[in-house]
Amino acid sequence: DELLRIEGIRKTFPGVVALDGVDFDLRRGEVHVLLGENGAGKSTLIKMLSGAYTPDSGRILVGGEQVRIHGAQDSERLGIATIYQEFNLVPDLTVAENIFLGRQPRRLGMIDRKRMEAEAAELLKRVGVNVSPRARVRELGIARLQMVEIAKALSLNARVLIMDEPTAVLTSEEVEKLFSIVRALRADGVGIVFITHHLEEIAALGDRVTVIRDGRSVGQVPAATPEDELVRLMVGRSIEQQYPR
Ligand code: ADP
Ligand code: MG
Ligand code: MG
Repeated sequence: DELLRIEGIRKTFPGVVALDGVDFDLRRGEVHVLLGENGAGKSTLIKMLSGAYTPDSGRILVGGEQVRIHGAQDSERLGIATIYQEFNLVPDLTVAENIFLGRQPRRLGMIDRKRMEAEAAELLKRVGVNVSPRARVRELGIARLQMVEIAKALSLNARVLIMDEPTAVLTSEEVEKLFSIVRALRADGVGIVFITHHLEEIAALGDRVTVIRDGRSVGQVPAATPEDELVRLMVGRSIEQQYPR
């Protein structure tokens, strides 16, 4: 039931060791939280999976087989969809056009707009968001952009969905909505990599947690782990040590 495995990944940029040996794995139907302070290396790690960066060393296995992910097409072919903090949508295109970007259904060589919009409407309904497939993406607020990205991932039949701090800009109502969508995907067997530094979201949504500190995975623990233990792993010292009496 293993979807994904990362072993000993290293990645340096000029003057910076961003990742210095990270291990991670993802199972079918789980929400695996990546927890770490700002700069710990979370975004760099997932960019290895979306094909934005290639590792200097280490291995990535998908379904038990070692793979190389060079670019978005490799990632897409492997069933991995990533929702970045800075979205990947084209503002001047419609919702439907964004969902099927580069893969529009065609009829007699022409884009079959009716079919594309009907299929987009179906996906948006599955996500439970009330937005027209014909709306321009630039007209949408941040929560709806998030949902359009999820609809797009569904259209790609992604088995792995990666979300980089998806709640950072949502209201608490929107967060609840997002969580219910994530739970439904998990029930369908999708594996979700959920990046956050909000501890309360871990208890609400997570199954397991991998803690990243200074480019290293420093622990893999159940989501039910007490918050002070998570903080200790995340910052490398206890709350008492941080705030001595
Ligand atoms: P996080 O997502 O956990 O906040 P990042 O993965 O964004 O952390 O960053 C990890 C480290 O790598 C940071 O020190 C960051 O400045 C550095 N870094 C990330 N991307 C680049 C890049 N393209 N060039 C140089 N340094 C980078
Ligand atoms: Mg950051
Ligand atoms: Mg980040």
